[in-house]
Amino acid sequence: MKRFRRYRMQDTLRQSIRENTLNKEELITPVFVIEGENIKTATEAMPDLYRYSLDRLPEELETLIDLGLFKIILFGVPKLKDAMGSQAYDEEGIVQKAIRMIKAYDSRFYIITDICLCQYTDHGHCGVINAFGEVENDQSVELISRIALSHASAGADMVAPSDMMDGRIAGIRKILDDNGFVYLPILSYSLKYCSNYYGPFRAIADSKPQFGSRDHYQMDYHNSRNAADVAREDIAQGADLVMVKPAMVYLDIVHHIRTAVNVPIVVYNVSGEYALLSQGIKSGMVNENIIYETMIGFKRAGADLIITYFSKELVNKWL
Ligand SMILES: [Zn+2]
Repeated sequence: MKRFRRYRMQDTLRQSIRENTLNKEELITPVFVIEGENIKTATEAMPDLYRYSLDRLPEELETLIDLGLFKIILFGVPKLKDAMGSQAYDEEGIVQKAIRMIKAYDSRFYIITDICLCQYTDHGHCGVINAFGEVENDQSVELISRIALSHASAGADMVAPSDMMDGRIAGIRKILDDNGFVYLPILSYSLKYCSNYYGPFRAIADSKPQFGSRDHYQMDYHNSRNAADVAREDIAQGADLVMVKPAMVYLDIVHHIRTAVNVPIVVYNVSGEYALLSQGIKSGMVNENIIYETMIGFKRAGADLIITYFSKELVNKWL
């Protein structure tokens, strides 16, 4: 009989042979900025998460600086929405202004920007709607590419397209290269599933589709076989990192991708996952160590970086 407990019995040995650990350099914090003044508002589903107008944003930045959490992913909530999502690629759009403000505030911030149209279109879809009421792929890719260029020009460190149009990575890579941003990396939301776990985010980002759903462009969660093909295609088009979203019930996808490609993998621990864990802890049904254990689960499955609303709590309590 092999005595496996010899690995577990001594605290020193057990703690020093752990295959997976977590450090704060691996965490990316979502930050929501909203057009307007003196705004710091939460939503019912995510009572601890705020949208900030730029004049109030320093409150959040100071907290992140104190904790040493410098990697952020930025989401914008514009004042005006239209059919073409024009505020998304406006030089004076909310995200473009936020990038410049944050970089001026503290240049240590590493800013990843979410690239999509859904927060900026009046219909709430991730692309342009054609005469048949369908999201038009190639025209959307053109606009998505323009958003990426405008974020790069404002000073973003990495762009992360989340729209799920075909060919968007090639479109973005080309426009960035043509304009001198050859070293700006692209994080593709490659494996973004059409998930019910996004509910609370849609409230905070005000990006709920006004008709239909996103199942014509986001991945179908019944499937896993084509995940590797999708990731490989994005990498061939120029993606430097790939994402799996959501994270908690998609660890099979993370593991699958980890064995299929060699680029860094990012998981997005999404709003619904955050809400469920937070409510469970608040009600006393589970203890708060479940947060840390969940992050280690992501690492064990093969994730390199984690986007999570728990980043501050993780640093405060475990790291
Ligand atoms: Zn979108």
